[in-house]
Amino acid sequence: MGSPDTFYTETAINTAKFESLNQHIDTDVCVVGAGLAGLSCAQSLRDLGKNVVLLEAKEVAWGASGRNGGFVSPGFANGQDYIERRLGLKAAQSLFSISLEGVKIISNNIETYNLDGVAKTHGKLSVLRYNNESLVRDHCINMQRKYDCELEFVDRDAMSNYAQTDSYFQGSLDKQAFHFHPLNYCLGLAQVIAKQGVKIFENSEVIDMQLDANNKVITTKNGSVTAKQVVLCGGGYSGKVYGKINKTILPIATYVITTEKLGNNIHDFVKTKAGIIDNRKASDYYRIVDNDRLLWGGRITAKTSEPKQLAQLIKNDVLNVYPALKDAKIDFAWTGLMAYARHQMPYIGKLKDGVWTCTAFGGHGVNTSAIGGRIIAEAVADTSERYKQFKPFKLQLNGGVFGPLASQTIYRGMKIEDWWRESRFN
Ligand SMILES: Cc1cc2nc3c(=O)[nH]c(=O)nc-3n(C[C@H](O)[C@H](O)[C@H](O)COP(=O)(O)OP(=O)(O)OC[C@H]3O[C@@H](n4cnc5c(N)ncnc54)[C@H](O)[C@@H]3O)c2cc1C
Repeated sequence: MGSPDTFYTETAINTAKFESLNQHIDTDVCVVGAGLAGLSCAQSLRDLGKNVVLLEAKEVAWGASGRNGGFVSPGFANGQDYIERRLGLKAAQSLFSISLEGVKIISNNIETYNLDGVAKTHGKLSVLRYNNESLVRDHCINMQRKYDCELEFVDRDAMSNYAQTDSYFQGSLDKQAFHFHPLNYCLGLAQVIAKQGVKIFENSEVIDMQLDANNKVITTKNGSVTAKQVVLCGGGYSGKVYGKINKTILPIATYVITTEKLGNNIHDFVKTKAGIIDNRKASDYYRIVDNDRLLWGGRITAKTSEPKQLAQLIKNDVLNVYPALKDAKIDFAWTGLMAYARHQMPYIGKLKDGVWTCTAFGGHGVNTSAIGGRIIAEAVADTSERYKQFKPFKLQLNGGVFGPLASQTIYRGMKIEDWWRESRFN
């Protein structure tokens, strides 16, 4: 099965394929799922001297990792306030610096391996859709004071230098964040780690895992792997074969579109090269790609099937902010699944002896999956116990058949909260 038709697949560079598994292999570690989490884990395991087999049901980065918005910034799907409330400031600071390490992993890989077509562009502007200057100012001050994270405050007047719209009031600019072409990053990284010795197999869906004995047996349709340790990295696509994990994640769909090439006109509205994201819980986020196309993401839903009017649905969101773009045609529209835990923090930890989970990165998964992969690799190789920092974020059942309902309810709750805040302050 090929990758979905997206702006990224259309502009993918390194499309060399890996063969599917049709033999038996004995190895140290088997990683299941070749998204950002699996690739990063395999890379770090190899760096630590382990023999690794990486199995992918479809193609490298076929899941969320090759279809996302491309925003790379520190933090987790749940905010620092939540982490601070749960664990206290010191632990929250440590986790924030872990999340920043994830940003650096991606950045270093792009530079060290000179990855093609990744188009790394600095800046992320977070904007408020209602007027509350002190809220944004305090946020910038707090992030600097508590987390040593420099954010530039953007006031209402200065906002028009970034975005020509009445929708936004104040904002904060994170200059160390960046955006990139996630698929080209993953495809490039896969080639690099394959050359370093990671055995990658595509079109090799794992259909059975025997994980109780010392030697774990992982089976695909035409082959099998025996490994001392297994790392589960299936993201929102983790099916029944993932056992307990499948019962503890909420797969949540979200959408992205890319417009036709809009010419210089688009720069009259989106005036910055930075990516823009609004501060709502169900946020819009967008950036300019390919010089003059608008890549826009947003909405979340528990319905994992693609809506018929996907392009129009998201275009309405674009017009809500930039009504002048009414004639812009949509060239690509796609959907992808994120994995959420109920606490909206990742599952980075040990399931049982020799079995590790590295998943549930939610909508803030580029940096966190990169560092999650590294931390699990360190645990497997017994070089650190950093995974223990994620112990408070335990596996929580997703509500079984009520799981989708639960996530839809969460989404509605987010929308109502967003509406309430905007109408109260505008
Ligand atoms: C549309 C969209 C926009 C997003 N935008 C952003 C953003 O801008 N910034 C950000 O930080 N995060 C964003 N995210 C979140 C981020 O992309 C994800 O959290 C992250 O990519 C998760 O990586 P992963 O490796 O855990 O999962 P995935 O990338 O989903 O990879 C899981 C892989 O496992 C494979 N797999 C599943 N079952 C099996 C099996 N049985 N056998 C073998 N392989 C299997 C799948 O085929 C898949 O390739 C977005 C997500 C989506 C969907």
